[in-house]
Amino acid sequence: MSEKVIITCAVTGAETTRESQPALPITPEEIAQSAFEAWEAGAAVLHLHVRNDDGSPTQDVAVFRKAIELVRSRCDIVIECTTGGAVGMTPEERLQPVTLKPEMASLDCGTVNFGDDYIVNTLPIMREFAKSMRAHGVRPTLECFDLGHVYASHILIKEGLLDEPYHYGLVLNVPGSVRYEVDVLEMFVRKLPKGAHWTLMGIGGKANLDAIYGALALGGNIRVGFEDNIYYSRGRLAKSNAELVERAARIAKDCGRPLARPDDVREMLNLRKA
Ligand code: ZN
Repeated sequence: MSEKVIITCAVTGAETTRESQPALPITPEEIAQSAFEAWEAGAAVLHLHVRNDDGSPTQDVAVFRKAIELVRSRCDIVIECTTGGAVGMTPEERLQPVTLKPEMASLDCGTVNFGDDYIVNTLPIMREFAKSMRAHGVRPTLECFDLGHVYASHILIKEGLLDEPYHYGLVLNVPGSVRYEVDVLEMFVRKLPKGAHWTLMGIGGKANLDAIYGALALGGNIRVGFEDNIYYSRGRLAKSNAELVERAARIAKDCGRPLARPDDVREMLNLRKA
C-alpha cells in the first residue's frame, strides 16, 4: 500500500469541554493556533467546529468566517466545516457554514443515537445538504455512523446528487451506535462505492488508537483530535491536538504510508480550485 494517507484533525468538536480537556481550543484564535500545530505535525485536513466565547457550540457564520480567516493566515490546511453542528440544532442552522464555501464539509448520512441524545438526518435533509454543497462547490464528507447510512448514501448517488470522487467519514464507537470492531469496519468498507476514499473516526481513547491501525490496514485515512478523543493513553490526557497527530503520523509512516499534504488532498479529492 503506497497511497498517501490523509490525517484529519478535529480540534474542537461540539461536545468536548474545557473541564474534561484543559487544552481544548475554543476561540477562533485558539482554534487557528491548534490547527496550525496539527498541520505542522502532519495533518492535511482540519475538521472545523466553532464555539461561542462561553464554550457552547455555534454554527454562526461570522464565527466560522473569523476562524477560517485566522487558519488561512497561518497555513494551507484543507478546511472541512461541520454541518452536523451540535445535538438539537435545526438543519437550517447546521447548514450555514457551507455558504462560506469551505473546500469540504461533513454531510451526516442518517439518524442515529448519540449517547443519550440523537442526531436526526432524514433523506430530505440529506438531499438539501447535498444540493447546497454542490451549489457552493464544497466536497462532502459522507459521515456514516451506521451501516444503514452507507446505504442511504447510495440513494443520493443514484439520484445524481453527489459527485465523484466520494469521500466517506466512518464514525464508529459513538455510545448507542455501532462499536469499533475490525470485522464491522471491514463490512462498512466493502459496502462503499468502488474507489471511494474514506476516513475512519474511532470515538473514545481506545477505539481512536485502534482505528488508526484499522484504517491503515484496510486502505483508509485517519482522523484524530479532541472532538473524537481527549486521551493520549489510558488515564493520560493528550497535551494537545498536535500530540495526537504526531503519533498518527508516526504510525502511518511506520506502516509505509507517506502523509498526504494539503495539496495532495486537493488533488486526491478533486477539490474546488480556489
Ligand atoms: Zn464534527
